[in-house]
Amino acid sequence: MNRAPRITRWIGAFWANGIGDVIFPPVCLGCHGLVENNGAYRHVCFRCSVTLPRVSPPACSTCGHPFEGEIEGDRTCEHCQTLEPVFRRGCTAVLLRGVARALVIELKYHRGLHVLEDMAVILDSSPHVLAHVRDAVLVPVPLHSRKFRERDYNQSHLLAEKLAVVAGGTTRVEHLLVRRVDTVTQTAFDRRRRMANLKNAFALKKGASILPDQHYILVDDVFTTGSTLNSCAVVLRAAGIVMLDVVTFGHG
Ligand SMILES: [Zn+2]
Ligand SMILES: [Zn+2]
Repeated sequence: MNRAPRITRWIGAFWANGIGDVIFPPVCLGCHGLVENNGAYRHVCFRCSVTLPRVSPPACSTCGHPFEGEIEGDRTCEHCQTLEPVFRRGCTAVLLRGVARALVIELKYHRGLHVLEDMAVILDSSPHVLAHVRDAVLVPVPLHSRKFRERDYNQSHLLAEKLAVVAGGTTRVEHLLVRRVDTVTQTAFDRRRRMANLKNAFALKKGASILPDQHYILVDDVFTTGSTLNSCAVVLRAAGIVMLDVVTFGHG
């Protein structure tokens, strides 16, 4: 790559963003090149931002995975036909590929809280996600207390907070669930036993109050099999929630 534009951008970053960006110049999570200081993202360069695998309707009404072409009415994808969801609808902002996957990995496994702003930009520019969550109560999927102590933050909670801000209106976050079973310690169990344990992995938080007329939305970073979200949904439905949907940042 030609060095001159990089140096020019570097100097530009100095003036625009201060000494911090010069000492730690923002590097793109997709291609490891420097990120332009006048773009929409701090950790995704312009070239990678146009390759973001964004989701737009039509999509599976349960998990949000997009369909090709024109689809009439509600439809679920092949995978969701075996899920038997107890929530109503689900939607997602991106497919978990390329730089979108890199953002989630950075947040979840590398303590990359600095990428949250970029994820908020993606959520803010996903009209179907904003329309889905606006004026609802967002309920993050909780971490087990052991995991929380180890990680020190819950990525689903942080994403829910960002989502509440960009969606606006009366959208707010409430913690209604606790995770009773530490799924990481169960890796030795076979799949059937793990699935059975997941069924009872969540419980209503002590003192949680449910408003029957309120719209609630479970928030997780990623939709994979949907089993975790469905286990949470079972608890919330049993607690009396009728209008219950789910939203995730990514699908994959
Ligand atoms: Zn890039
Ligand atoms: Zn689906």
